[in-house]
Amino acid sequence: MSEEKNATQELREKLMNEPKGAKGLTAEEFAAADAFCEGYKTFLNASPVEREAVKYSVDAAEKAGFVPYDPEKEYKAGDRVYLVNRDKAIALAVIGKNGVKNGARLAIAHIDSPRIDLKPNPLYEANNLALFKTHYYGGLKKYQWTAIPLTLHGVIVKLDGTRVDVCWGDKENESCFCVTDLLPHLAKEQVTKPMAKAFTGEDLNVLAGSRPYADAEDEKELVKLNVMAILNEKYGITEGDFLSAELCLVPSFKAKDIGFDRSMIGGYGHDDKVCAYPALMAALDAEDVDSTCITYLTDKEEIGSDGNTGMQSDFLRYFIYDLAKQDGVEGYRALSKSTCLSADVNAAFDPTYSSAFEAKNSCFINGGVVISKYTGHGGKYDTSDASAEYMGAVRGMLEKNNIQWQIGELGRVDLGGGGTIAKYVANMNVDVIDLGVPVLSMHAPFEIVSKTDVFMAYRAFYEFFMQ
Ligand code: MN
Ligand code: MN
Repeated sequence: MSEEKNATQELREKLMNEPKGAKGLTAEEFAAADAFCEGYKTFLNASPVEREAVKYSVDAAEKAGFVPYDPEKEYKAGDRVYLVNRDKAIALAVIGKNGVKNGARLAIAHIDSPRIDLKPNPLYEANNLALFKTHYYGGLKKYQWTAIPLTLHGVIVKLDGTRVDVCWGDKENESCFCVTDLLPHLAKEQVTKPMAKAFTGEDLNVLAGSRPYADAEDEKELVKLNVMAILNEKYGITEGDFLSAELCLVPSFKAKDIGFDRSMIGGYGHDDKVCAYPALMAALDAEDVDSTCITYLTDKEEIGSDGNTGMQSDFLRYFIYDLAKQDGVEGYRALSKSTCLSADVNAAFDPTYSSAFEAKNSCFINGGVVISKYTGHGGKYDTSDASAEYMGAVRGMLEKNNIQWQIGELGRVDLGGGGTIAKYVANMNVDVIDLGVPVLSMHAPFEIVSKTDVFMAYRAFYEFFMQ
């Protein structure tokens, strides 16, 4: 067959928009993606909860020449600063030649992920087992969190105000925790129930011990007492200290390559560390930028972005106001000229659940970074629907820089839906659009992404900053 294209083929290429998938990528791009994702896996393993992601980001930023931001100081083009909010969110800025006079360029991702939190009064003993009562965090299918190893991460603040950092179960030889499930032999009734009723939030009780305290004079709650004795020895805490703690159970397993071709990564918390890491790296790598570029890694997205560390907090607004003050412009004027990539994941088309998706407007694994003009649910509620103008500008930026990208609407109309931080950014009068990485098994303890998509997200944030 001839190599030459016939006239119809040429016309088709010119007029039709047919995504090529990973077939369009070069060997160099595959190699660069694989290398980039080694760093990503390290970040992912180190950052199951937001405080750890902030710590990782501070360390990486300081190595790249970033210093803590001081609103009293004058900054010049090229300076690199960071500002941490209550150890749970972080803004990193590369000061541009024009500062924020023409607006800032924002890349905003979230660093919290669905998980299981301990209740304020968690520890109890039942039938000689020590267990934790929990309250799940974010949208999760509860049955997925049973019968898998879990580790405990977080902080405990003691009565004297000292803080203890907790990380139990991450090391190879450390013990971990688990939610038990009913054996199939006795689950005839359970398996006929609707999923939401077969396993409820109050069933997410976590096994924490089973051996009684030795040398005890009395017989009461010896297993629980033994757990408290171990915790007291390790952390110096008493049971009352649970009342001033943030303790989270997250899957124990580490990120792993998926497939014979190692093209994908399975791991906990891709949503949204898979956008946070590329956005962080883009800030670290950005140089000689025209407008000040800010990567903001926020908290609480999974529970609605409320609270002083979530996107609805004024933290980022105040930071931009401080930068604007130095540049001699009103904060609101700087905000009004700012542009943003809301960096969050979207649901990748899954052939096993194809009926949940509308293929023509879904994103696909290996299709590149995904742009979502809007998220929300039925009738475009609860979203920022980006303008055609801004969509056009972002599309142009991606095409100009040869970045593989695709469009993605979340599932079939009226099937459900979900939101991102984009609408809160839009409310500050900022042009914003969602741009992120497609994910399979989103919100499961083990989510899956494609390596080339992760790399394309990095390239998108970097070129957005550098334009
Ligand atoms: Mn997300
Ligand atoms: Mn999510």
